[in-house]
Amino acid sequence: MQQKISIKLLPREAADDLAVINAIAKNSGCKPDSINGYHILKQSIDARAKTIWTNLTLQAFVDEPFLPRQVQQFNFKEIRNADKKVVIIGAGPAGLFAALQLLEKGIKPIILERGKDVRSRRRDLAQLNKEGIINGESNYCFGEGGAGTYSDGKLYTRSNKRGDIDRILNLFVKYGADENILYQSHPHIGTNKLPQIITAIRQQIVECGGEFLFEKKVIDLVIDHKQIRSVKTDDGDIFEADAFLLATGHSARDIFELLNNKKILIEAKSFALGVRIEHPQSLIDQIQYHCPVRDENLPPASYSLVQQVNGRGVFSFCMCPGGIIAPASTADGEIVVNGWSPSKRNNPFANSGMVVQVETEDAFRELKSASKKNIDENDPLLLMRFQQLVEQRCFVAGGGKFKAPAQRMADFCDDKISSSLPINSYLPGLQTIALKNVLPAFIQQSLAKGFQEFGKKMKGYYTNEAVVVATESRTSSPVRIPRSSESLTHPQLSNFYPCGEGAGYAGGIVSAAMDGERVAMQISQILA
Ligand SMILES: Cc1cc2nc3c(=O)[nH]c(=O)nc-3n(C[C@H](O)[C@H](O)[C@H](O)COP(=O)(O)OP(=O)(O)OC[C@H]3O[C@@H](n4cnc5c(N)ncnc54)[C@H](O)[C@@H]3O)c2cc1C
Repeated sequence: MQQKISIKLLPREAADDLAVINAIAKNSGCKPDSINGYHILKQSIDARAKTIWTNLTLQAFVDEPFLPRQVQQFNFKEIRNADKKVVIIGAGPAGLFAALQLLEKGIKPIILERGKDVRSRRRDLAQLNKEGIINGESNYCFGEGGAGTYSDGKLYTRSNKRGDIDRILNLFVKYGADENILYQSHPHIGTNKLPQIITAIRQQIVECGGEFLFEKKVIDLVIDHKQIRSVKTDDGDIFEADAFLLATGHSARDIFELLNNKKILIEAKSFALGVRIEHPQSLIDQIQYHCPVRDENLPPASYSLVQQVNGRGVFSFCMCPGGIIAPASTADGEIVVNGWSPSKRNNPFANSGMVVQVETEDAFRELKSASKKNIDENDPLLLMRFQQLVEQRCFVAGGGKFKAPAQRMADFCDDKISSSLPINSYLPGLQTIALKNVLPAFIQQSLAKGFQEFGKKMKGYYTNEAVVVATESRTSSPVRIPRSSESLTHPQLSNFYPCGEGAGYAGGIVSAAMDGERVAMQISQILA
């Protein structure tokens, strides 16, 4: 008999097979030796009270043989000679999962990626971190796997389409992720493991006959009779297809400019901008687990904070326990920070974005006060230009070579330049400054108030041991590329499918992957 059982155990018990079996036996009224094994269906940690519990939902095999976990099966077709072709621009999660979906539907994907493969990309990241030299086509945002490759690999999403989420997680497992992502409440892969998974996805696409081309930056669209006929890459190549899926992410400013110049409708989209905060991980563990030292059976603690300050949302974003702050810029002269962590999350720092909602009127006001030129308040690139302005100010204030401007947390709130900065994880280095000189006042003030409020919710969070690093600016796309809710095509071009985070339809790895699949399904129905 198979039984579904929910139990709560101390973390050390949950990590001990025998203790779990005994708990199943106690709960179900059978003998421990009648239990031949179990699968974890759900696992979460409840650290709200002094005693911390691990909640488990289990499928126990009682008096019947233990069977391995059933994994989802996929049916990828050989599509080398398929008569329908789709050009996918961008090999991030949206582009890759769209390609996998097309393989199942018997359609040939041709992926054009401006950056390099994951392995070559690693060298460019090392150069950026060690020497402060950026490759504009191969960095933390551009290259195989997109912004998801050297990311933290957190796989949670606010989307509640469970079926779709499970399919994405099962695909990650098929290509090498640990099975625990299928049941943990906050699944996470880690930067060290993602590149192999992305490589395996590419191999699948190529084995089936799909094309995967690197260093192919799309620079133009050839349009005829309200359709895209072909796209042109920077080396002069032309690619024709039945449909074109644009999955270029939130950092492809040249794509937004291209669409705007070609009078293809795009819209300004509000987004959030702020800073990245770094605390010692041991401090976050103490606060969240209410104890001097973290139990070795508990993962490094995380947090999620949100506060309304003067009618504006201030919230934590992409928290990375045991992580590293990374230079996520895509061009010289701009500072962008983000965070990642390895699968073990075993670095001594805890970092998180802390950002403030930015609306069109904020961007207009700030751009106007920063420039003598006329600012068009209807410019669809208004928020993108504002984002770039802050990133450029940060670069200048950091002193070059991707050193980022920074301040201790309490000093930031007390308007005091920090005489020193704590040891931190940001490899290109930090420069102490007054961050109010680079951040717009409404952002600096909202953050300062937010930090103090967060300090009340999490005692010890508000501290000068924490460092505030600017700027966390690529939280989501500052532009939306509209599409019809039914056909998923752009309103002006019947075979053009904006997709993923850059188009404004996703935020994060799983939701971008799900959007890629959704669009690919739609394309397959249209082309059928
Ligand atoms: C450091 C870091 C950490 C992150 N951590 C997490 C996390 O833990 N969990 C999470 O859910 N999300 C995380 N994110 C965000 C996540 O990576 C993105 O939400 C996700 O990758 C978006 O997917 P996408 O496919 O829409 O776009 P992207 O991943 O941005 O991919 C777009 C691709 O298009 C390519 N491209 C752009 N322009 C062109 C062009 N003109 N021609 C050809 N190719 C082009 C780019 O090179 C890129 O490969 C992180 C991001 C970063 C940078």
